[in-house]
Amino acid sequence: MRIVVTGGNGLVGSSIKNIIQNYPEHEFVFLTRDNCELTSLMHVISFFSKPENRFDYIIHLAAKVGGLFMNLDSNVEMFSDNIKINENILVACKQYGIKRGIFCLSSCIYPCNPSRFPMDETMIHESPPHPSNEGYAYAKRMLELQCRQYNKAYGTEYICVIPVNLYGPHDNFSIKNGHVIPAIMNRFHGEKAKKDGKFTVYGTGKPYRQFLYAPDFAKIMCDILLDGKYDNTEPVICCNNETTIKAMVDNIATAMDIPQNKLEWDTSKSDGCMKKTVHNSKLCTYYPDFKFTSLQEGLRTTYNWFCDNQETLRQ
Ligand code: GDP
Repeated sequence: MRIVVTGGNGLVGSSIKNIIQNYPEHEFVFLTRDNCELTSLMHVISFFSKPENRFDYIIHLAAKVGGLFMNLDSNVEMFSDNIKINENILVACKQYGIKRGIFCLSSCIYPCNPSRFPMDETMIHESPPHPSNEGYAYAKRMLELQCRQYNKAYGTEYICVIPVNLYGPHDNFSIKNGHVIPAIMNRFHGEKAKKDGKFTVYGTGKPYRQFLYAPDFAKIMCDILLDGKYDNTEPVICCNNETTIKAMVDNIATAMDIPQNKLEWDTSKSDGCMKKTVHNSKLCTYYPDFKFTSLQEGLRTTYNWFCDNQETLRQ
């Protein structure tokens, strides 16, 4: 099969690049902002209409994404850009005969006050998301709706996969706009270089999050798309164990050789959603033997990668 991967230079797209040798009978083509601006329907159609750009399958990862503080600042753009990207991609998929695909959602689009924890795949639309990221959340919720409708109307096999908070090598390490792990790593790294460095973390540390190592997620997505085991088109959650922000930050400090008694908490900053626990029983029925990378190991590998790629990393 010929597979187009949007968001080819992102956290997950880069992780897929590292494992394509495990799928030698398939050809992967990575789409980046440099070869196609996905918010423009004209650009998207112009790319997919070229005879050399014909594909059987898609892995749609591209999105405007950011951490809690970027979402708080730019809910308008988070909604508008993501709605455009997803609509344009789906129009192209239909027009150019892409019959099967993985479409990436996120557990942060789930209700912030659900009827029960842990949440499952049926609860995406149960009640409103957390106001901090409602632009992103509603745009991604619409992608789930669109995939379902395309499958019904056109017989496609578009599967929404729902990861929890992703992290790993190739992440965006922006201190201002990044997700919590890369933002803290980058900030702490800068402070470590100073004599009286301050290791400040935002919020209370009490929120719960589930963190998933992006290379694990890349493998799961490719398997669902290609190995024939996932025999339906319903959304599926992909998650790892839950931890508090405080416990996760303690692990970052350990990976970076920072004594835990040096950490300071700025409780004037937002905690965001306190809890959004999901479970992956469904995924486990299809992939019971999948081994997730531990948070400790994933953080160590990510920090080593961050140190080794200072010149080129996204930040
Ligand atoms: P979220 O999981 O969608 O809310 O997004 P993030 O990955 O940005 O995680 C936000 C959580 O981490 C909140 O509870 C923040 O209070 C906490 N946090 C602590 N320090 C930081 C930081 O430097 N950057 C970010 N983005 N979040 C932080």
